[in-house]
Amino acid sequence: MLASVLLALFLPCLGMSGIFIVYICLLWYVSSLNQPDPPLPVKPVTVLGLSASELEKLPKVTGKDLVMGTDCAVCLDEIESEQPVRLVPGCNHGFHLQCADAWLSRHSACPVCRAKLDSDFFNALENPC
Ligand SMILES: [Zn+2]
Ligand SMILES: [Zn+2]
Repeated sequence: MLASVLLALFLPCLGMSGIFIVYICLLWYVSSLNQPDPPLPVKPVTVLGLSASELEKLPKVTGKDLVMGTDCAVCLDEIESEQPVRLVPGCNHGFHLQCADAWLSRHSACPVCRAKLDSDFFNALENPC
């Protein structure tokens, strides 16, 4: 008699907890579906500009020494033969000194051909071997 009463109490409890567990699982599943994507890690800025000291290491010529055309791609103006010109080493693209410095202080790449001016380049300048 007692055993059957216990069983009668126990079975519904078991059923209830089973439903409860399924319910919790469903809740967990739905909330995991609805969760927004984890925020992407902030991308490191890979293209940093050059520092003033790095800019100083770039070759400086005048307009008459230009071999790659006399149009400044930064301001789209012509580079006069007596104007100071900053040359991008490697590709030899030239720009007005101020234009090149303004651009290169924000981007470490040639504005025309995107040639990279990275730290490796400056290390190579300092250690020619
Ligand atoms: Zn310019
Ligand atoms: Zn270039």
